[in-house]
Amino acid sequence: MLTSIQNKVVIVTGGSKGIGKGIASVFARQGAKVMIAARGMADAEAAVAEIVAAGGTAACCKTDVADWQSVKNMVKITEAEFGPVDILCANAGIFPQIKLIDMEPDDWDSVMATNLKSTFLCVKACIPSFERAGKGRVVVTSSITGPITGYPGWAHYGASKAGQLGFLKTAAMELARYNTTINAVMPGNIMTEGLQDLGQEYLDTMAASIPLKRLGAVEDIGNAALFFASDEASYITGQQMVVDGGQILPESLESLSEI
Ligand code: NAP
Repeated sequence: MLTSIQNKVVIVTGGSKGIGKGIASVFARQGAKVMIAARGMADAEAAVAEIVAAGGTAACCKTDVADWQSVKNMVKITEAEFGPVDILCANAGIFPQIKLIDMEPDDWDSVMATNLKSTFLCVKACIPSFERAGKGRVVVTSSITGPITGYPGWAHYGASKAGQLGFLKTAAMELARYNTTINAVMPGNIMTEGLQDLGQEYLDTMAASIPLKRLGAVEDIGNAALFFASDEASYITGQQMVVDGGQILPESLESLSEI
């Protein structure tokens, strides 16, 4: 199953922590060559070391996904290290929580640049690779927050995550000529270091509101990304998959007590 990932060159932006780290390790276990792109090299090098210790192949490059030169450099380094990019996992993102009354234009711009503009930049930078190879795969990490749900403090974040889905509809049409698909995974609440910073009370309340009664694991998102990247998913493009333990399903709090 999913043997098509073996030896593929995969860039995972934000692969040094959280969901991206999970995606990177899932792909590495399937025999992919993984480039981890992030700003902080200590975490990135630690993530690479974990993959290599488990018998996988990985490297890392210092990248700011909001910066065009840096993104172009990410692709250049990846091609020099492993060869042309087969799969891009556009995953890096930030989720600072701030209510509209306190939100400054710079807060908005920073979230949009890191979460949304970066998706455009990373896809654009990989197109020449996909064109040369005659095929490619893009998997975007969006969210349920924005496209489906709301959460106080995350208006900018939600807009950026919904924006990624708007982007991928047209991108799917344009990438089709390069035999390249683009799809999005929409995680619910996934247990990461980033989410842990929001505190135990947030985590407990979230777990209680999920029909499967637990937060997701980073590998749950990695497995969904793996499917979209596989040959088996070659006829799926411009689509999105919610991976949330049923979190968006309850009509009311009462309905959860009926489970
Ligand atoms: P995380 O644990 O905070 O990790 C974020 C990753 O992105 C880190 O590797 C970070 O490394 C990198 N990053 C941040 N800004 C970057 C930049 N400008 N350039 C390059 N890399 C950057 O976050 P996470 O929870 O795993 O979230 C990952 C993605 O999943 C995000 O797109 C988020 O919106 C989405 N998501 C998460 C959840 C959840 O429950 N955790 C739910 C829905 C969606 P550096 O800081 O070193 O650069």
